[in-house]
Formats: sequence, structure tokens, C-alpha cells
Amino acid sequence: MVKIDLIAIRVRPSRRRGLEKTLMVRERRRKIKMETMRFFLSILKRWQKTSNRENKMAARKFSVRHRDSTFDVDYDTADGLEVFRFQLFSLTSIPPEEQKIIGDDDDQRLVSDDSDLVTISDKLKIVSINEEISSDSGKEKEELLKSDEELARMFQAEEEALLFQLHAVGENSGQFEETVHPYISKVLMYEDPIRQEAAKKTVPVERLEEKSLVSLAREGNFKPSKTEQDHAFLLQLLFWFKQTFRWVNAPPCDGCSNETVGQGMGTPLPSEIQYGATRVELFRCKVCSKITRFPRYNDPLKLVETKRGRCGEWANCFTLYCRAFGYESRLILDFTDHVWTECFSQSLGRWMHLDPCEGIYDRPLLYEKGWNKKLNYVIAISKDGVFDVTKRYTRKWHEVLSRRNIATEQTVSAVLAEMTRECRRSFASETLSTLEDRDKCEREAMERDLYSTDDAPVSLPGRQSGDKEWRISRSEIGSDDNCSLSCSSCPVRVCIDEHVTTIYNAFSSVLSHFVENNVPKSGAIELLKILKGILGDLKKSPYKTRRVSLNSVPNNGQKIVPQLLPSIGHLLRVLSLKSELNTDGRVDIVLAGDPVKTSLSLPVVFKALDDMIHDLNNCDNFGKGSFSLPLLKLNRIHSGSVLASGEEFPFGIVTSAFDGTRPSKWEEPNGARGCWIIYKVADNKMHELVAYELMSANDAPERDPMDWVLDGSNDGGSSWHVLDKQTSQMFENRFQRKTFKIKSTGFLSNAFRFRFLKVRDVNSTSRMQIGSIDLYASRM
Ligand SMILES: [Zn+2]
Repeated sequence: MVKIDLIAIRVRPSRRRGLEKTLMVRERRRKIKMETMRFFLSILKRWQKTSNRENKMAARKFSVRHRDSTFDVDYDTADGLEVFRFQLFSLTSIPPEEQKIIGDDDDQRLVSDDSDLVTISDKLKIVSINEEISSDSGKEKEELLKSDEELARMFQAEEEALLFQLHAVGENSGQFEETVHPYISKVLMYEDPIRQEAAKKTVPVERLEEKSLVSLAREGNFKPSKTEQDHAFLLQLLFWFKQTFRWVNAPPCDGCSNETVGQGMGTPLPSEIQYGATRVELFRCKVCSKITRFPRYNDPLKLVETKRGRCGEWANCFTLYCRAFGYESRLILDFTDHVWTECFSQSLGRWMHLDPCEGIYDRPLLYEKGWNKKLNYVIAISKDGVFDVTKRYTRKWHEVLSRRNIATEQTVSAVLAEMTRECRRSFASETLSTLEDRDKCEREAMERDLYSTDDAPVSLPGRQSGDKEWRISRSEIGSDDNCSLSCSSCPVRVCIDEHVTTIYNAFSSVLSHFVENNVPKSGAIELLKILKGILGDLKKSPYKTRRVSLNSVPNNGQKIVPQLLPSIGHLLRVLSLKSELNTDGRVDIVLAGDPVKTSLSLPVVFKALDDMIHDLNNCDNFGKGSFSLPLLKLNRIHSGSVLASGEEFPFGIVTSAFDGTRPSKWEEPNGARGCWIIYKVADNKMHELVAYELMSANDAPERDPMDWVLDGSNDGGSSWHVLDKQTSQMFENRFQRKTFKIKSTGFLSNAFRFRFLKVRDVNSTSRMQIGSIDLYASRM
């Protein structure tokens, strides 16, 4: 193996400093990674021991050779290759992704999946992929050297690409400017107050505001700053836009709404040209043969009304929405045929990527890594200037450079600088210096990130917008349409769910009141249904001024005030609500505190009411004796911190399983054949677990867990004790709750761990998902 000397290829001094910085950052990240690994390792070692105890029949003993040492490794076939790799990591320090495991006798097969570990011989050999490349001693040093080498190669490739560019650039070097320039007048349309007003009018502002405040509250932030609120609102605007705008391949027939087929281009009408549609696609109806026109409008004022198009229309219109709500925004033009938006987030202190077609934000590597796009130029256009932001969207700059053949780098910079100067011509000097400082920061950040390899663990799916064939024809589908490319360790997240426990507990006084007043089971069910109706009306009213009159409940006005009201006083309080007697004798339910707390709590109480009505229907003797699980859910453990093997960000994060609401869920992109979640109790408090409940998620029954083990730990996760084990469990319905009582109680735990071993149909999915997890202690 030839070693390349860094100095020998003459890395420029500025580059060299950048390189040193990158290496320092990398070293620090590597250390953090090792610590995390060590933590998992301690867990997995214990796991392995307990597994073998539980499942002696499926255990195997391997003798694994590494360099001059041989290790005996116990392995449970139910655990899978991933666990085995972690076991080997603990013994050899070779990270799982760098392990190469092969048979060490006649059968020199490469172990690549779980089934290999069932059939291969007992003697194995393990080598590090890195060791194979270079046989020097001192592995850690090697890793760094390799990084140096890699970087040096990249720099060399860049220099070569630049040289090549000088020869390859076409004669028409004005082409770059011709492509970009028209977008300047386009983005200036976003500054028009009439267009902004038209856009704003279509947005349910209060609802998005409520959603953004609830999303912050779910992270424990009940008193967000203005910049945090603005940031959260922008994300809600993105999600709303994604739901509202429609993607069009072939529009439905104007006459009969049936499918159409393309018929080429038509001549634009004056009414279409008026809104910038110089291109009009024609489609013929498959049923009535009528021609439907699809004008490609460029004026976002028209798009606010039509709400449809392909990515050009989506990004164009969404950027107007961002400007209308005062966000500094850019239209991003990717020369390989895509458009999206960037907004400056005051909260993050930097520009943030937002793709309205995909509803994805702050994932700039989505295109290169997720869609396998071969990027060349990514240009940001705003009223404040035009910038080359390609470096934010790539980690393969040398490859990107080799495809930048329209103009030399010098020409590109000069053209953009000139355009920016033109945009800023009339700006005050103070504004100018602020913008220039920010430009500088942005350029430095892009340079810094360009050579970092350890990006935050994120899920980068293939393209989702457009129909499947179209995406395949563009090769933007990613490696697996259903599977994220990289989903690994997640951050430790804290459950903000004390309100869930409080709401569950509050039902104790509701039920007690019913029983004390001899309300029969059927009457109790009826009252709970009425309560659900009242709270439903309350949920529909504007979140800052919620109010509903009890007397307006049809047919029940007379009966509920005396019967229901006294029993729900405590429940109302925990929902930040209260009853109010009007001068005319009517009773209203109104807000009593922070409206966001009510917004956060209402979905929880709905789910709890549905469950309670369901459980009451199945309850044989309604009375004090029935006041236990599943009907009454007392002593639910809350506010713990959770860590999972994987999660789908942002709509399937692990804490979603603890938020007490129905539609949210924890989704593990690679969990079908095994995944885990660890729950650490707040303040290390010891609890005797008496029961737990799992609820199936909203869709995809094949992803339901089927086999699992629940462990408890009395030392915060160093050692584990099996509390419960279930096999072949079936959730027949969506949102179905199942209650499991712990048979051998008495073990005190301050950490819990679920090992979901298998989902319902491992052959049709790579994912595991669960709607909710509730843990109940003997007392709090
Ligand atoms: Zn038709």
C-alpha cells in the first residue's frame, strides 16, 4: 500500500490549517462515539448473558480468532448478527461497521447475515477492514492516517478537477449567467405586498401557531422565546404547505376528472401569459377525450390560488409564503433540475434548507446521499444577492467540481459577485456590512462542513414526491424506497409526559364519583360520551379563547350539569380548564390557565376517554372493585429519559410513544428483526413495575411488535433482570391497547429496557413501530 505524504502533494497552507482543524474535530467526535459504544456494550454484554439463560436451545458457542488471541463467544441465534457484532466489538475494539467475520476452517465463508451464524462452523476469524488495507500496528493512529490520506486524495482530485475545468469549459461562458439571471426578477415578486397578502390569507395562522407552541411544549419548552416560536412556526408552515399543495404529473380531466395522457405543448393564452405561464402542457382525457391545459405558472400569486404543480411551482410558491411571514428566504436552484427554499433561522443562527415537496427541513445532504443526485451547481437567489451554496449540499466536492463545466470557478464567482452588487446597490451601508458579515460566516461554515465525515445520524430517504415510475426514471428513488439510508444511534430524549400521568390519575375521581352516586355502568358510559363531545367542541374552538356551553349539549343539558359536572371538577383542573356559571344560569367550560397546556392535554384525554369507554363496555362488575388496570391507569411512570436503537425523525421519534396521544408513534426504520429502547427513570427513582401497556400504531400492522422481552435494572442499566417476556402477540386493531401484568413482582428498577425481537411480518418490512408504551408502578 502506497502512503501519500501530505506535504508531497503541496496542500496550500490555508487548506492545511483547515485540514488540521477538521482532524481535531474528527478526533473529538471519535472519542464521543467510543464512549457511546462503551455504554451500549455494557448493556449488550448483560443482554447476551440473560438471552442465553432464557433460551438455551438456540445458544451457540463460537471460538473467534483475532490477531494472536482467541475469544470464546456465547451467541443466541435469536439475537442476530448485529448483537454478535457488538459482542465482538467489546472483545476486539473493532467497531461493528468495520468488522469482517469469516469462517476459520474449511468453510471460509463471509458472515453477512443472521442465517450465516446458524449454519457456519464454530471457528471464526475476525479482521478489521482497515487492518486489511494497511497492516501497520497502532490501529487508532492508522485510522487518522487514513483520514489524512483520504483528505489528501480529495484535495488532489479537486486540484485536478480545477485544471480539467480550464480545458472543459465550453465556449459559451455566458450560459451560467443566462441560467441564473432570470431568477432575480422572480424572487423580487415575493416582495410585493399584494402577493404577500394573498398568500397570508390562505394560511390558518392561529392553528399553525397553536401547533408550533404545542411542538415546543412537547420538548419541554413552555416559555419559548420569539426566535424559537418563529423557528417552530416556519416548520409548521412547511408541513401545512406540504399537506395543502398538490403534486401534478398529468392533471385530471377538467370535464370528467378522469385520467389524462400528455399531448405535448400548446400555445399559451393571454390569461396564462399574464401569470408567467409561457409553457402550457396539454393532456387528453382517456374517457371523454377533452383536452385539459396545464399552464406552468411562474407567478406565485396564481399558484397561491391553483395550489398545484411540480417542484418548480412548489418551491416558488412556498418561498413566497416564507417571505409573506417575514422570514429571510432564498429560492434555491439546483442545475440538475430541482428547486427548493432556504430560510435564515435566527434560532439556529444560520441558513436552513427546506424542501416543500418533501416536507423535509435542515437535511442538505438529502439530494446527494438520499437521492443519489450528481450535483453540479446549487445557487441561492434572494433579494439580497445570489450565492453559490453548492458546498452545503455535498460531501464530494471533488466529484462535484469535475461536473462543473459551464464556466470556470473564477467566472462563477465573478458573475455572482456582480449580481449581488446589483441587488444591493441601494442598500444602506449598515445593512451592507451586516449582510457581508453573514456572507462571510456562511462561506466559512460551508468550508468547514465540507470535509466533515461524521454527519449527525439522520434519515435520508429517496425522493417521495412524484409517482414512482417518474422517480425511478430520474434515479432519485434512493437505495430502498421504504428504508432510510442511515439510521443509527439517536440522542437521549426526555419524555415530557407528566400531564399524561396526571390526566390518567384524574379519572380516579371521575369514576369514584360515579360509583358513590350509584351511576350504573350504562349511565357512566353515556356520561363519558357526553364529556367527550363537550371536550370535542372545546377542541374545535380557537385555542386562545376556548369556551363551550354545557347547556348547548343536545338533549342532555338538563341532566349533565347536576350529574357530570361534580365528577369532572378535578379532571378539568388538570386540563387547565374550569366551569363558569353565567348570570343567566348557564354553565360554560372555559380556559383556566396556559392555553398551550390545554392544547397539549386535549388529545391525551380523548384517547383516555376512548380507552375507558371501551374498557367499561368490557367490564363485568362496574364498581370499586374494577378500579384497576386496564380501566383505571394509576401510577404511570413519567418524565424519564429514553434512548432507542433508531428512530424516524421528526415524525417517529422515540418519545412519541410516551406522549399519550393516538396518531404519534415511535418508528424504528431498521427494527423489524430486532430493536431496543431503554427507559431511565427520572432522578434514578426505584420503582416496582406491576404492569405495562402497549398500543398498536395507526397503520401498517406488519410493523407491530410480536415478540419481546422487558428487562428491569436496579443499577441504571449496567445489569438487567427479565421482568416479562411475550411471544406471538397480535394486535388485531389499530390503536389497540394491550395490558400486561408483571407476574413476578418485587424487583425494584430505575431503568427498563424493551427488546423487540421481531415484528409481525419480517418479510414485508424493515420497520418496527409502536403507538404507545405505558409503564405502571406499584406506587409513585
Ligand atoms: Zn374527461
